[in-house]
Amino acid sequence: MTHPKSIVAGNWKMNGLSDSIAQLDALAGMLDKGVKADCDVLICPPFTLLSAFAMQTPTSVAIGAQDCHMNSSGAHTGDISAEMIKDTGASYVIIGHSERRADHGETNEIVSAKAKAAIHIGLKAIICVGETESQRDAGQTLSVVLSQVIDSIPSDASADDFIIAYEPVWAIGTGRTPTVQDVADVHAAIRKQLVDRFTEAGKGIAILYGGSVKPSNADELMSVENVNGALVGGASLKAEDFNGIIDAYRK
Ligand code: PEP
Repeated sequence: MTHPKSIVAGNWKMNGLSDSIAQLDALAGMLDKGVKADCDVLICPPFTLLSAFAMQTPTSVAIGAQDCHMNSSGAHTGDISAEMIKDTGASYVIIGHSERRADHGETNEIVSAKAKAAIHIGLKAIICVGETESQRDAGQTLSVVLSQVIDSIPSDASADDFIIAYEPVWAIGTGRTPTVQDVADVHAAIRKQLVDRFTEAGKGIAILYGGSVKPSNADELMSVENVNGALVGGASLKAEDFNGIIDAYRK
């Protein structure tokens, strides 16, 4: 049966200066202890550190960006294209994080166009979806998340081109997490959607959970069916904490 490779991904957001490379080195040292062969480890630093990280990255850690522009070049002051990201040596890019959707008005249509640009250049897109607290309270979680999945994946994408990160907006950076049953229900619904669209190959697309993952809850969350890894914000900034989450894939 097709089974996704797990990924533990760290999203550093707008954090990190040049001396933060020490955290990458420390993490690489900890990974020498070994991780299950079917688990990849990824760090997504801010653009300013992307080249340095990608140049110095040990083979045990993949590097990704946190956003890209939908166009390949041109008059877009302050923006970064997928090709520029690829040129640093990075291999992944997060697209449609809820902070981008909220702070920069990124709609599913924009997310899809950005993912298309990333995929076109050979980056793996991590497409983020997730409901707000008011949407959850209104009983709209599944309809919101599934419409984000349907509309954010580019129409010409194949199953190898992207992974999905389910991140309830209200769980990001708050210390709150959904129940294991809630996570299982949403991931099962996303899996069904992926299988409906990509048939057997849809079973091989990783679906990450994100939102206040830390060493103390990683084991429980990562053992939920259809959870194929984590997208981690705050707890990815320190190698020791991030390594404690990766421990869920050492058993
Ligand atoms: C995130 O920003 O993707 C995230 C999951 O953040 P945190 O782990 O801090 O909740």
